[in-house]
Amino acid sequence: MKPALDETHDPITRSWVESANLGDSDFPIQNLPFGVFRRRDASSHADSETKVGIAIGDSILDVAGLRSEGLLADASVVAAADACVFYSPNQHSPNPDSPSSISLNALMALGAGSRRALRRRLHAILRNGASPSDRKAVSRHLLPQAETEMLLPAVVGDYTDFYASIFHATNVGKLFRPDNPLLPNYKYIPIGYHGRASSLVVSATPVHRPSGQTRDANADPVPDPRFGPTKALDYELEVGFFVSTGNRLGESIPIAQAEEHIFGICLVNDWSARDIQAWEYQPLGPFLAKSFSTSLSPWVVTMEALAPFRIAAFTRAEGDPAPLPYLFDAGNREHGGLNLALEVSLQSARMRETGMAPEILSRSNFRDLYWTMAQMLTHHASNGCNLRAGDLLASGTVSGPDVSGQKPARGCLLELTTRGQNPVTLPTGEQRKFLEDGDEVILRGFCETDGFRRIGLGTCCGTVLPALTI
Ligand code: CA
Repeated sequence: MKPALDETHDPITRSWVESANLGDSDFPIQNLPFGVFRRRDASSHADSETKVGIAIGDSILDVAGLRSEGLLADASVVAAADACVFYSPNQHSPNPDSPSSISLNALMALGAGSRRALRRRLHAILRNGASPSDRKAVSRHLLPQAETEMLLPAVVGDYTDFYASIFHATNVGKLFRPDNPLLPNYKYIPIGYHGRASSLVVSATPVHRPSGQTRDANADPVPDPRFGPTKALDYELEVGFFVSTGNRLGESIPIAQAEEHIFGICLVNDWSARDIQAWEYQPLGPFLAKSFSTSLSPWVVTMEALAPFRIAAFTRAEGDPAPLPYLFDAGNREHGGLNLALEVSLQSARMRETGMAPEILSRSNFRDLYWTMAQMLTHHASNGCNLRAGDLLASGTVSGPDVSGQKPARGCLLELTTRGQNPVTLPTGEQRKFLEDGDEVILRGFCETDGFRRIGLGTCCGTVLPALTI
C-alpha cells in the first residue's frame, strides 16, 4: 500500500508555535512525534507528573491538557486522547524511577486509524489559521522542552535486534572471514536475535562500562579468560520501530499488512562490548556483550510523518535471490524503503572541557538496508510468535557503501577502525580504537526530500562512565 499523503504533509503549512518554523527544527508541524515527559521541577512520585506529549518546535504539547480543555472531544479522536491519559489496567511503568509513569502502549495498541485521526486534529489546532480560542487554550499546555525531562516512551515487553544492513554484515564478516564474509543465509532470512528489554534506557542516560569475561587473544590454544571491564566498548547506530497492534499467538502477519502494525520509529544505540562478544557469541549469539544497556531517542516519529520519505526497497544486486514469497509484496518493493539520513558524532571529555563541538564520525542512510521494516516484522511473526503493542524491533547497525570524499558509512567503531587497526583521530589529537570513559556518543537522524518539509528524529545520546564492578 502506498503511504498516504494528506494536508498534514503540506510543506507550506506553518505553525503559530514560531520555533517549529525554523528551518533546522527537527519538529515542524509536519512531524508531530509522540513521547513521554515530566517537568524537571516535578516531585518524583505523583501519578500526574508523567505525561504523553507532542514535540512542536522547541516546545512540548501536553495531550492531557488538550483533552481537559475539550479540544479532543470529537468522536474520531476520543479513544486516542483517552489512551494518552489513562493507565491501562495491566500496565507497568517503563521507567523504574517513576513507577507510575504513563506510556504510549495504549495509544500504540489502538492502531493506525486512531493515531491518524489524532495527528490530523493536532495539526489543525497547531497550524497558522487555528481559531483564536483554540490557540489560547492550546497555549496553556505548551511548555519548553528545556524545562522537561524525557522518559522511555513505551513499556517494551520484548526487544529484538536485526542485522539488516548487508554492508555492515559484510564489513564485519570480512574481519573474521576475509574470504567468505557473508554467511549463506543472509540474503534469504532477516537475521536477528532476542535482545534485553529491561536495560533499555532513554537518551541522556549515562552508560557504565560493563565488565565481563574476555580471553587473551595471544593465549592460544588455552583461552585463559579474565573478568573485568571491557576494553572494547562500541556503539551501534540503529533505528528502532515500535509495534502498534500485535498478532495473536499462532497467527502471522502478512507482509502486505505489516506496516499497519508499526507505530513509528526512533534512534537506537546498541552499545556493544566487542571483547566480551568475541568470547561468548558462539554458538548462541550475543548475550552479555549487548544486554547491559541500549539507548533510545525519546520521540517516536509516526509512520504517517514518514510518508513523504518512503522510497523503493533496496535494490538487490544482480544474481541475488528474490525474497521468498512470504517476504515479498509488490507494494513493499515499491514503497517499503525509507530515505532517512543518519549520523554518529563523538565528543570526548577533553573536547567537552575545551568547548570543542562533537566530531561527526560517520554518515549512513536507512535506505541502504537489505531488508525493509515490513519484512523484519513479518518474518518475526511468521512462526506464530505473538508481537505485542510496544514491542521494539531494531534494524541492526546501519552502514552503507562508502562514497569517496564523504564520511564513512560505517555505523560502529568495529567497522570504522577495522577492529582497532585504524584508529579514529579526534580534533584534540586523541585517538580512538574503541570508546573511552567520558566519551559521549550522539546519534541523529532526519528525513529530507524535495517538495517536503524536513523532519528529524531528535538525538539519542549517552556518555560512557567508568565500570561499576571489577
Ligand atoms: Ca545491534
